[in-house]
Amino acid sequence: MELALNVAIFMPTELTAEYNSRMSRWNSEGLRLDQLSWALSRPDIVREYRKLDKCMLCMRPGVNAAGLCDICLAIISPEMRDLAEKWLRGIGP
Ligand SMILES: [Zn+2]
Repeated sequence: MELALNVAIFMPTELTAEYNSRMSRWNSEGLRLDQLSWALSRPDIVREYRKLDKCMLCMRPGVNAAGLCDICLAIISPEMRDLAEKWLRGIGP
């Protein structure tokens, strides 16, 4: 993720360390499918991807309130879609 790398370069050391520890958990390549239900339970993560406007799974721009694009929303399991729909309805995790 080119933008993220540029941001990290200009951040003070403490912030960069904080950033790196966050990014090691929030994979810049997008989350694995098996991490999605965990991510949907974490408002900080969902908000981060919404702010980036990148899908949590495929990093495609243009995400809904759950931090997912329409395509990923369509392919995830019904259990995960239930979690995502709570975000879409504004309920949250
Ligand atoms: Zn997606």
